[in-house]
Amino acid sequence: MNFDALETWHREGFEQLTAFRDPRSGARGVLALHSTQLGPAFGGIRRWSYPDLGAAARDALRLARAMTYKCALADLPAGGGKVVLLDTPGVALPAQYEHVGDLVERLNGRYFAGPDVGAGEAELAAVRRRTRWVTDPGPDGPGELSAATATGVVHGIEAALEFLDGAADWPRRTIVVQGLGEVGARVAAQLRERGVRVLAADVDAVRAERVAAELGLELIDPAAQLDTPCDVFAPCALGGILHDVTLVRARCRVLAGSANNVLAAPEHGDRLHARGVLFVPDIAISSGALIRGATFALSGARTPLEQIGERVAAVVRNVLASAAARGEPPVRFAEREAQRRVELAGAVR
Ligand code: NAD
Repeated sequence: MNFDALETWHREGFEQLTAFRDPRSGARGVLALHSTQLGPAFGGIRRWSYPDLGAAARDALRLARAMTYKCALADLPAGGGKVVLLDTPGVALPAQYEHVGDLVERLNGRYFAGPDVGAGEAELAAVRRRTRWVTDPGPDGPGELSAATATGVVHGIEAALEFLDGAADWPRRTIVVQGLGEVGARVAAQLRERGVRVLAADVDAVRAERVAAELGLELIDPAAQLDTPCDVFAPCALGGILHDVTLVRARCRVLAGSANNVLAAPEHGDRLHARGVLFVPDIAISSGALIRGATFALSGARTPLEQIGERVAAVVRNVLASAAARGEPPVRFAEREAQRRVELAGAVR
């Protein structure tokens, strides 16, 4: 892939891009701070097997920017950052996370590190040995983060269905949930409680069978998820699933889920819009954990799930109505509006 990290850093106004290598622990990765105009940056630490440092930098930059935009749309006094670590076999993990802790400590509160793929409680405990600038997913923290994301997603889907049809009308709906992990399983559970017919898939067959049996889900072939006719397709697995090849397969009326950067590029939002699919931008609907985590880190307050759901629904309603009033795809409005809010904060300072 032809990707120039420095060019993106410069063109899109990122505050910081740091590539790091620690000879002692073997840690290699990238730290990206998109913006602290609205407040300190929040974002998880992701450990993944990237093919090279360029791919890692690309992911860090996109995810950090998404975090800034989520904060701006949710009216949080916070911005976006991200650390990605190259998953290198045979390298001791605690020492790598301690090194990340040292980097975070040097930022002195400009960035709070949090959980993500490859960074759960044990890894964050290693980061915390070196710095206090960590959002805490443990029992003394803000409350379950994945539950907050799932609750936001379900309330966001409700807002989208109301926007289209005037009512969620849950018992008449068929919803496909892609991915039955921390968020997807909770989304499926909340939808089942509302009487929705849930079709689901996970590439981890053992997990899929277990969650489906527990919740009464109908399993579908992961390879055929997108082709399945449904009211809502909820991507709760990986990002980048909608691109030139896959986009034409979508058979849903609404596309809304937790996965970050669902669209390979914003143009794919335009094309979904032209095909009559209502795409709810992930920067609007997947901010539940961020709302919970950042609010706790900045003020010590624990936000109840119901409040998170209402807050995310309000963001989604605003994005959908404002985009419709302007006759543009929701993702275009959402990104521009988020950017406008960040720039405004910079100008006010
Ligand atoms: P997770 O790793 O617990 O679950 C992801 C699941 O998706 C796994 O079970 C995996 O087997 C499955 N999967 C992967 N590829 C798939 C495919 N092609 N088809 C079907 N299933 C597939 O992750 P999570 O914490 O549940 O997060 C899900 C998504 O939501 C991620 O993209 C994450 O970045 C995003 N997100 C999560 C949170 C949170 O609070 N956890 C917050 C915001 C955004």
